[in-house]
Amino acid sequence: MRARDLERYRREIGWRDAPLLDVAAAPAAPRVESGDLESLAREAVSCTRCRLAEQRRTVVFGEGDPQARVMFIGEGPGAEEDRTGRPFVGPAGAVLDAMIFALGLERRQVYIANVVKCRPPGNRDPQDDEAAACAPFLDRQIALIRPLLIVGLGKAAARRLTGSTAPIRALRGRWASYLGIPVLPTFHPAFLLRTPLAKREAWQDLKAVRKRLEDATSSSS
Ligand code: URA
Repeated sequence: MRARDLERYRREIGWRDAPLLDVAAAPAAPRVESGDLESLAREAVSCTRCRLAEQRRTVVFGEGDPQARVMFIGEGPGAEEDRTGRPFVGPAGAVLDAMIFALGLERRQVYIANVVKCRPPGNRDPQDDEAAACAPFLDRQIALIRPLLIVGLGKAAARRLTGSTAPIRALRGRWASYLGIPVLPTFHPAFLLRTPLAKREAWQDLKAVRKRLEDATSSSS
């Protein structure tokens, strides 16, 4: 996404002049998991725990700062992600970039992963058993990174992270907790592309995230 478009998104959310956040100033949570993300990623590459392994081209493990204070969790890789091995690089990725930017952060400062690491054929939603099969990878990713908070993107992420099967409209904007870490579900970037009117609520959710980050940053100084 071009700088001009990012600025437009920031203006839409009313944060044109909001300063970039110094998230590194927020205290990091202590790690509870030994090992590292690279060895976990190597394990994931050869995973055949569910049917998604049959048609994938690559395992899209996730990427970003291993010590990120904010973690974004999407649903599962799409075609472009399956081709490149990187999360959120297709059209939805451009919207996610804008969401991150609206928070006052840059992509390299956060960690981005998905509920399932392999592409569901035809971009269908991941099924519950596929999400459950992939959960040990996601849970260990979270335990290794120990972010201050998690943003759950879309229905499958909200379902996995809150344990609720309520519609995303009911779950978005309500803080929950997953593995002891605050989670805020919001709309999926791809949904925002199709439904621009929903951006208004998504921006409210991002403001709540920003507030938590600001509080964490200021309470540590
Ligand atoms: N949608 C997702 O949920 N994840 C991606 O990585 C890309 C699109």
